Amino acid sequence: MQVIKSIDALREALKPLAKQGKTIGLVPTMGALHDGHGALIKASVKDCDVTVVSVFLNPIQFGKNEDLDKYPKRLEADAKLAESIGADFVFAPSVAEMYPDGDPLTLVRDETLEGMYCGAYRPGHFRGVLTVVSKLFLISGADHAYFGEKDYQQVFLIERMVRDLNFDIKIHRVKIVREASGLALSSRNEYLTDVERKQALSISEGLKLAKQAFEDGERRVSFLRDLVIKSILANRGQVQFVEVVNQKDLQKFAGALQPEDKVVILVAAFFGKTRLIDNIELN
Ligand code: AMP
Repeated sequence: MQVIKSIDALREALKPLAKQGKTIGLVPTMGALHDGHGALIKASVKDCDVTVVSVFLNPIQFGKNEDLDKYPKRLEADAKLAESIGADFVFAPSVAEMYPDGDPLTLVRDETLEGMYCGAYRPGHFRGVLTVVSKLFLISGADHAYFGEKDYQQVFLIERMVRDLNFDIKIHRVKIVREASGLALSSRNEYLTDVERKQALSISEGLKLAKQAFEDGERRVSFLRDLVIKSILANRGQVQFVEVVNQKDLQKFAGALQPEDKVVILVAAFFGKTRLIDNIELN
């Protein structure tokens, strides 16, 4: 496996492989890889002839007061993990390599959902994500790209961008990988103290309660939301949002759900200073 830092070098490495008819899979990440990323890499290695894992902490998707500076960085360990799963390349460009002219003038953004849910609390976040993901698609020329459902709004927006702009790439969704405790794996879990980590289980526990209630026939949106909110509040979490939304268009439901509704509950909450997100589909 090769670690490549320049765009030209990655293109030079991948072009001949594509010419030979090899399929290329891309797994975009911000590094500090864990088994959640591992599941994406595994899926790509299984489907594609060549797997590229990008490790790039993208400054333009972070707000001024967010955790860009303290975000964990460990490229060597990331490369080892990627290699052990069968990745062929780790693409780890510098900020100057990706944005040689400083912040880009040209941005990719959606006009509808960028200000909702995570976007409402992280202004500019999704345009930063869509812009860097577009760049990575164009740089790699990948045929397939893998994203986790942990970032549900993100994968939704990327799928929509690919359809809206006719990117010639197939997007694959990978289910959330959780610890045995239920906590969704995240690079940000490293910020949690032992106590906060236990309290943070209230997110997945609340979501499980809501799913159970749904399966037992509960259809009131406010009741399902409250189960999650109460679970988090009872464990000293601060709820940023809990929303019951349509899987198809991420629009909010109100009132009672209908039998044909396909639903996902989206959550963001703080434990101490750490912001965590999670979700669960109700089918
Ligand atoms: P990040 O490095 O946090 O930007 O994540 C890179 C990719 O890994 C994104 O597509 C995430 O949705 C995905 N990912 C992160 N954590 C998990 C998880 N626990 N389960 C599945 N996918 C994940």
